[in-house]
Amino acid sequence: MKTHNNGELRITHVNEEVRLVGWVAKKRNLGSMAFIDLRDRYGKTQLVFDETFHDQVHDVRSEYVISVLGKVVERQSKNPDMLTGDIEIVVEKLEVINTAKTTPLIIDNETDALEAVRMKYRYLDLRRPNMQANLIQRSKIASVIRRFLDEQDFVDIETPVLGKSTPEGARDYLVPSRNYPGEFYALPQSPQIYKQLLMISGFERYYQIAKCFRDEDLRADRQMEFTQVDIETSFLSDRQIQAMTEEMMQKVFKEVLDRDITAPFKRMTWSEAMHTYGTDKPDTRFGLEFHDLGEVFANTDFKVLQSGLGEGKVIKAIVVPNYASITRKGIDKVLDIVKAHGGHGVLDMKFVEGKLDGRILKFFSEAEIANLESQLNLVENDLVLAVSGDFEVSCTALGAIRSYLANELELIDHDAYNFLWVTEFPLLEYDAEEDRYFARHHPFTRAMDEDKDLIDTEPGKVRAIAYDMILNGYELGGGSLRIYNNEDQTKMFEVLGFTHEEIRNQFGFFIDAFEYGTPPHGGIAFGLDRLAMLIAKENTIREVIAFPKNAQAKDPMMDAPSKASDAQLAELYLSVVKAKEENNWYNFCKQVLFGIM
Ligand code: ASP
Repeated sequence: MKTHNNGELRITHVNEEVRLVGWVAKKRNLGSMAFIDLRDRYGKTQLVFDETFHDQVHDVRSEYVISVLGKVVERQSKNPDMLTGDIEIVVEKLEVINTAKTTPLIIDNETDALEAVRMKYRYLDLRRPNMQANLIQRSKIASVIRRFLDEQDFVDIETPVLGKSTPEGARDYLVPSRNYPGEFYALPQSPQIYKQLLMISGFERYYQIAKCFRDEDLRADRQMEFTQVDIETSFLSDRQIQAMTEEMMQKVFKEVLDRDITAPFKRMTWSEAMHTYGTDKPDTRFGLEFHDLGEVFANTDFKVLQSGLGEGKVIKAIVVPNYASITRKGIDKVLDIVKAHGGHGVLDMKFVEGKLDGRILKFFSEAEIANLESQLNLVENDLVLAVSGDFEVSCTALGAIRSYLANELELIDHDAYNFLWVTEFPLLEYDAEEDRYFARHHPFTRAMDEDKDLIDTEPGKVRAIAYDMILNGYELGGGSLRIYNNEDQTKMFEVLGFTHEEIRNQFGFFIDAFEYGTPPHGGIAFGLDRLAMLIAKENTIREVIAFPKNAQAKDPMMDAPSKASDAQLAELYLSVVKAKEENNWYNFCKQVLFGIM
């Protein structure tokens, strides 16, 4: 239907007869002449109509699909912002292929439509040039990744979507089985178990761009269904896996953005990351690193700071340059952040007129003040914020303050791509409520050799051969070397509180597989949505997913989720007992009745 696309014609095409097709982006009348910008996924081309087309063009409206035949001419007034801005088409024939109703949102990079409208009419939202660019870029990212992995001898293997629960730590999506009433498949939280089994099968290098499903609350960088670049290898060390995936990222950034990324990436242990940035995914595009004040206040009489002394406790501070002017309201905001992260308070001091100043200074000895000043290397107008108490709570709270202030004070270099490996994560995480340990990564992660003996005595101290690739404060991917013998795997399940029976029932097949010659193996998975979001410089992954769920976990376009018919439910031997509200009413009645009895 066309000889060229709408982003293709240049001055070199002048005098050529061309046939173009596309959507009407804009129509303007200028005296007896009319102009239309014709749009397709490649760009826009300006069409010119003389008065003979008056009536025909009059009937043409935005988003009509039209086809034209015409001649390329050089433009009088060129438009350097348009790829085709040097030329225009003098139309000789116009055909309306399809009409269009007035669209509920403006089809342009800028649109004033609310998210609800964008989601309901997603197919129109996706017609906007920036959304097209995002998805085309995402496709390019995926194809660079595939090409790279193909060249490295990886085999692309699909794994089932209907399977058994895989323990990544989130809630499963269950699918009822029609053949086996009362039984359910689980959608994969990741292909973790399958990819490890493929190593036992001997494929050595596996990858898959896989859909994963986790029934979690949605966030800007998290959807309930998401896409992973899932990788598993045999006979490679953690460093080799990291080096190979660094190269993959370098290729992606070079080919997609023409950006050179320096490798090897910086590295930091989990403990360093927590101690210095208060997060396991530090954004290193700005400073505000933590200072440890444990030594300065080792003998303090000040009760508040005593809470930060001893095993598992810290006193940490950040120095914010040029922010001695922070207002009371500003401090309150910082305090809110601390409280939201479980902390109890924040101490604020300023360095003005050559000395520290603040209400809390009266609680410090002169030596403490002098040590504080010299350790923090303070300069005029510095603001000092300090927290103390439990290590993870205090560091996380100060980390949140650090990010908040970096945004607030515009300290972030938005053009930078700062990659980083965070390594040596704790293998286990203690849950006080349930009084048991959980796997921080997943239960197949191998412990560091030097910590293996601690598993019975001090499980919380065991470090894992686990690593996350961080980009600008986002976890881009995470992986680990895996346990590869039956004994260690069984031990791990035991530490996690599984009984022998539960291990057999849930993972019997996996443990059995380990007995048939399992190679040492390890891998990693990258979030494709997040990677595409960061490359596109968007703030949410919804901008790089064709048909995402909205913030309420709904698809307003298709109206999903929706009720199943009685016939469907009957076929699955299911019945919906109570919806939430009815349930409350039911509980209320029950309480009243029990109250009476
Ligand atoms: N399956 C893991 C995850 O989804 C990644 C990995 O260990 O390869 O986080």
